[in-house]
Amino acid sequence: MQALLRCLLSLAFCSTATTVATKQHKLLLISFDGFRYDYANEEPMFPAFQYLNANGVRAKYLQGAFPTLTSPSHMSIATGLYTESHNVVHNCHYNMSVGHQGSDFLSTLPVNYWWDTGVEPIWIAAVNQGLKSGAYMFPGSYATINGVSATKKVLQKQFMPYSQRSWQNRISTVVGWLKDEDMDFVALYFEEPDTLSHELGPDSKRVRYDVKSWVSNTIMHLLKKVEDAGLTDDLNIIFLSDHGHIPINTTVGSDDAVSLSKHINIDDIDFQFCYGPIGLIEPKPGKLVSVYQALKGQSNVQVYYKEEMPERWHLKGSDRIPSIIVVGEPGYYVFWKFPGYHPTRGDHGFDNELVNMRAFYYSIGPSFKKNYVVDGFESVHIYPLMCHLLGIQPAPNNGSLDLLLNTLVSDTDVPSVAVYLAVLIIACIAIYFVYCRRRKGARKKYKGV
Ligand SMILES: [Zn+2]
Repeated sequence: MQALLRCLLSLAFCSTATTVATKQHKLLLISFDGFRYDYANEEPMFPAFQYLNANGVRAKYLQGAFPTLTSPSHMSIATGLYTESHNVVHNCHYNMSVGHQGSDFLSTLPVNYWWDTGVEPIWIAAVNQGLKSGAYMFPGSYATINGVSATKKVLQKQFMPYSQRSWQNRISTVVGWLKDEDMDFVALYFEEPDTLSHELGPDSKRVRYDVKSWVSNTIMHLLKKVEDAGLTDDLNIIFLSDHGHIPINTTVGSDDAVSLSKHINIDDIDFQFCYGPIGLIEPKPGKLVSVYQALKGQSNVQVYYKEEMPERWHLKGSDRIPSIIVVGEPGYYVFWKFPGYHPTRGDHGFDNELVNMRAFYYSIGPSFKKNYVVDGFESVHIYPLMCHLLGIQPAPNNGSLDLLLNTLVSDTDVPSVAVYLAVLIIACIAIYFVYCRRRKGARKKYKGV
């Protein structure tokens, strides 16, 4: 009897302690480019962030991939791979072997070879496993990967200044995809606050107040549209960004601007590409050491041979990274010839361990806990979580589902019929056991009398 009781108790315990919600729902992934980790929870706190704090999961911060550029960071989110593994190492496509220097972020979005590196972003994984996926301007999503693309996709063709109508139109489109076209997964992208942070600086009043207000209004509008469409109970939503932003020290005419051409000769170089805080250098044969030594020790930059880059950057394994990489100290650009790259008042691309490079993360929906906070984590862990939520098999990746399982509603939060039955059976057996002992005791007492 006691063995049976122990068995039933352990059965009930297992069913309450180790399972997480497994019912599949639709999933919407939304990125607000450059939304720094600290914006959402500072005063004044806007309504959307109050709502998400109370009704969803918040991470203290999200650490994006290195370099903290938009395209590499979004690809790590979408694939769960570090940059050297998905190999989209830059916003701009380039070809070192022919000395071709990349163009820019927007014109690289439809350049297929740059994105089709043999990996499987979440919108492709979904289609390959029989689901329907959509992608609205999400970096990397316009490409065809191994002959497959998202079921529906919209390319970002220009930087569009914020307009309430434009952003609400995007929301109407993706909610329509989820409801009317029964899509299982959609990725949606907004280009702010990145654009204004570049122009005005990440600590400007306009970014820290106006843009946060736009983002908050957009989130509340989205949640209302989702509710109106009857999707609230069947849609999980992840809000995040790709990186933070840091004020830039370099100004036109500054003496401390970094100009590589002051230290090395163009005739010694096969390939160079300076963009924001990152300088990529491939010296001519026989010039590797002299070029490295000419740059090493210059102020406001860190200079690395490819193989001596920090392991935690997960970049040295890429065949798209040349022999020398120059990385600006916080707030400093790397120019070939100052000021060849249009200086801005805020930027990213720096070391992903810098506090100002941290991104933000919220999740909300039927599978997620409410009013729950998790420590900061790396963005590669989001891909296995998304696959779990969609019920699809993840491709090999650098993330771990275990890290975010505790953000999901456990089956114990809504006790299942099986748990109720187990408790009922245990109670009946216990009552019967007590009843039998009492009857036995009564018979002994009677015989004794
Ligand atoms: Zn970005």
